[in-house]
Amino acid sequence: MTEKIDLASMTKSELCDYFGSIGEPKFRAEQVFNWISRGASFDEMTNLSKALRGKLSENCIDTLPKVEQKLVSKLDGTIKYLFKLYDGACIESVFMKYNHGNTLCISSQVGCRMGCKFCASTIGGRVRDLLPSELLGQVIAAEKDSGERISNIVMMGIGEPLDNYDNVIKFLKLVNAEGGLNIGYRHISLSTCGVVPGILKLAEEEFPLTLSISLHAANDEKRSEIMPVNNKWKIAELLSACVAYYKKTGRRISFEYTLISGKNDSEADAAELGKLLKAAFRGTGAPIHVNLIRVNEVAETGFKKGSEASIKLFAEKLSEFGIVATLRRRLGSDVNAACGQLRRSSLQNKPSN
Ligand code: SAH
Repeated sequence: MTEKIDLASMTKSELCDYFGSIGEPKFRAEQVFNWISRGASFDEMTNLSKALRGKLSENCIDTLPKVEQKLVSKLDGTIKYLFKLYDGACIESVFMKYNHGNTLCISSQVGCRMGCKFCASTIGGRVRDLLPSELLGQVIAAEKDSGERISNIVMMGIGEPLDNYDNVIKFLKLVNAEGGLNIGYRHISLSTCGVVPGILKLAEEEFPLTLSISLHAANDEKRSEIMPVNNKWKIAELLSACVAYYKKTGRRISFEYTLISGKNDSEADAAELGKLLKAAFRGTGAPIHVNLIRVNEVAETGFKKGSEASIKLFAEKLSEFGIVATLRRRLGSDVNAACGQLRRSSLQNKPSN
């Protein structure tokens, strides 16, 4: 069998070429691009002839993620989706309501190979990268299912976006395109565990994204212990890539810091973090923002969250260094919203993917 065509991963100009190659007028590209962004099946593309719809169904693959399971929080309306992909693999996306608009947290890979010790997504390793159409499809499928418009995207779900660089870049172009979802880059955050060459490359693209760095420790010894990626790119190298990113894009960088009881959450840890970030950005004028996260307790990892009082002390210590720290609001705490936990429980019932 020849390989099927992934239309939903194509830009409008690639669609133009495709329709040209099968003897169709170029305006089909605009029509199909728009149908795809609304999650239509080939059969539902009613302004195409029946014959063309038949041809597309036969030759093209439908990569739109399908809702396999859906958990709706009774506390705040957060929706956790377990999506099934065309090959049976599953990923998660989380729909959250904020004052500034509806936000979808999307996955970038099936599984992850980064090996962070506290994270549920990496336990079974990486199965495969998501296609551009599957990155985009999470947003489309969530809009279709919820009936709500999504205005913000955070790439903080399963996987490491900079380990799937080319597909992520293609996705960014698709999601931003007119006639499609048209979501502005300023409304998109990309979170990385610290893949330095990817950060430097991203700085060269013209995307005013918000970059989030999963830092989680203020010295190499502690960071390498919980994040193996730190053996490859040390903190100093990571922070200088962040400074380069800031200088190039002018975009604020946000640091994620997951507080793990007895590991990285003491006042001394906070002071070390404050000193580290202040020194790294000295003279750049960059505002430094730290997002504190209570560790989500994953059964396999044994890490525990600290007390409310210890978190408050940590934030206060950081403010002594002029660093704004916010404690992430916990949404969907009743729907297993922590990264990778729903996929993980579905895998435990069915260990094939
Ligand atoms: N690979 C990317 C994006 C996915 S993880 C990254 O590392 O940034 C998204 C965020 O969730 C990261 O900051 C990650 O460190 C954090 N995270 C993963 N497992 C967690 C857990 N059990 N508790 C709290 N935060 C967690």
